[in-house]
Amino acid sequence: MKRYQLCIAGQARDSRAGAWFETQNPFTGESWAEIPRGNAQDVDMAVQAAHQALTSGPWADLTHTQRGALLRKLGDLIARDAARLAATEVRDNGKLLAEMQGQLNYIPQWFYYYGGLADKVQGSTLPLDKKGYFAFTRHEPVGVVAAITPWNSPLLLLAWKIAPALAAGCTIVVKPSEFTSASTLEFAQLFEEAGFPPGVFNVVTGFGAEVGMPLVEHPLVAKISFTGSDATGRLINEKAARLLKHTTMELGGKSPNVVFEDADLEQAVFGAISGVFAATGQTCIAGSRLLVQDSIHDAFVEKLLAVARCARMGDPMHPDTQVGPVTTPAQYQKVLEYIDIARAEGATAVLGGGKGTGAECGNGWFVQPTIFTGVTNGMRIAQEEVFGPVLSVIRFQDEEDALRIANGVRFGLAAAVWTKDIGRAIRMSEKLQAGTVWVNTYRAVSFMAPFGGYKDSGIGRENGMDAIREYLQTKAVWINSGAVTGNPFVLR
Ligand code: NAD
Repeated sequence: MKRYQLCIAGQARDSRAGAWFETQNPFTGESWAEIPRGNAQDVDMAVQAAHQALTSGPWADLTHTQRGALLRKLGDLIARDAARLAATEVRDNGKLLAEMQGQLNYIPQWFYYYGGLADKVQGSTLPLDKKGYFAFTRHEPVGVVAAITPWNSPLLLLAWKIAPALAAGCTIVVKPSEFTSASTLEFAQLFEEAGFPPGVFNVVTGFGAEVGMPLVEHPLVAKISFTGSDATGRLINEKAARLLKHTTMELGGKSPNVVFEDADLEQAVFGAISGVFAATGQTCIAGSRLLVQDSIHDAFVEKLLAVARCARMGDPMHPDTQVGPVTTPAQYQKVLEYIDIARAEGATAVLGGGKGTGAECGNGWFVQPTIFTGVTNGMRIAQEEVFGPVLSVIRFQDEEDALRIANGVRFGLAAAVWTKDIGRAIRMSEKLQAGTVWVNTYRAVSFMAPFGGYKDSGIGRENGMDAIREYLQTKAVWINSGAVTGNPFVLR
């Protein structure tokens, strides 16, 4: 079995305790690698290295332009190694190879974009209301960043954090999910080759309580950039608030995909399927609530079923597979429990509703693509994040009703509207409570487009120009351009 090492201060090393844990392939159910089980001592060593790199030595001395060049070089190396990194994510996470190849080929763009932005962060001079001063602002790195990531898209979601953080001049300690750490450890090996000084990028693997929390609590960590469940996000944010640390929180969702009677129904079916079944529904932006206008409800469900019932489960490495396994045994159980809950609440499974057990599923943790009709917005299946291939179809009457249902959850990550009426598209996009609204599409993301949550889906934004601000702090510099006069005991 392959055995990985931590990355601290530019060196591959075992955890201080010399402990490992196994990581499984979700398709075979077998352990395929050993991941170092880090602890608070490893965290301390990594944070000290990151702090040293931040405050002295070559990284601190680089010009912004040189920093940008390093990011672009890193992007080139990711592009070169995309196939290898994609295969590691498939083995560890169970995502489709077809999806991962596309994702890994796209990730370099984050490093090119933020590499370009690194030397375009400018302060400004201030038109002061006081005479005799010249004042300006500087935007400086916020400090050592703790990046804590989930298992569903390890490298993509890491890129969303570290590309702007590095462009801002921060240094980083990453704690990837204990379920999918391998690709982050492999990715770490590219930093030295790209020319990053030791300590700029560190990875400590392990469990939330043993690595995640010590990282959050470490006095030299200035900012926590977290992606994961809202329960863990709350815990971390409470701790960070008490310690007065900066945070970015990318949390869960229960996103509505709203289909009006005047929509292009073929396109809307495409969007509904990709919305909830892509990545086996294990995406924060899953369109897990399909709101369908009453007048087209039955016909639309028929169209949806015609496509969804042909979904091919199977080996994620196989190019023909459309739905892969669930990533972890715990998540598998959770999804099956939600299916039971939905039935008990009175929803009807018109597709799937059980384990995937055919020969094509190997020993993997498969859940059949599942569609429930007869769902009302008060049911748990309509309110709680399932994070699996389970779609809830909810009827609505008109725009007002659609908005009431769409906004009637505590989350607000994403939403989509399907209509040919431009006025309706504008009205809906104004009133939907979500950080991303798509019109006649679903799931589009880009390094250029700000991404983040309304309501319980998060705090702060990733991607786009403004994301670099999440990793900067502003200093105002005052220069006395004349003699200071007057009574020194009186504040002016
Ligand atoms: P999770 O909250 O269980 O774990 C996320 C990370 O936090 C992991 O690295 C985990 O080890 C760590 N962690 C757990 N307990 C901790 C603690 N006490 N202190 C510090 N760190 C701790 O989430 P998950 O199950 O890995 O990911 C799925 C969730 O992530 C879903 O809710 C999904 O919606 C969300 N997500 C959000 C986005 C977004 O951008 N908004 C993107 C992807 C996933």
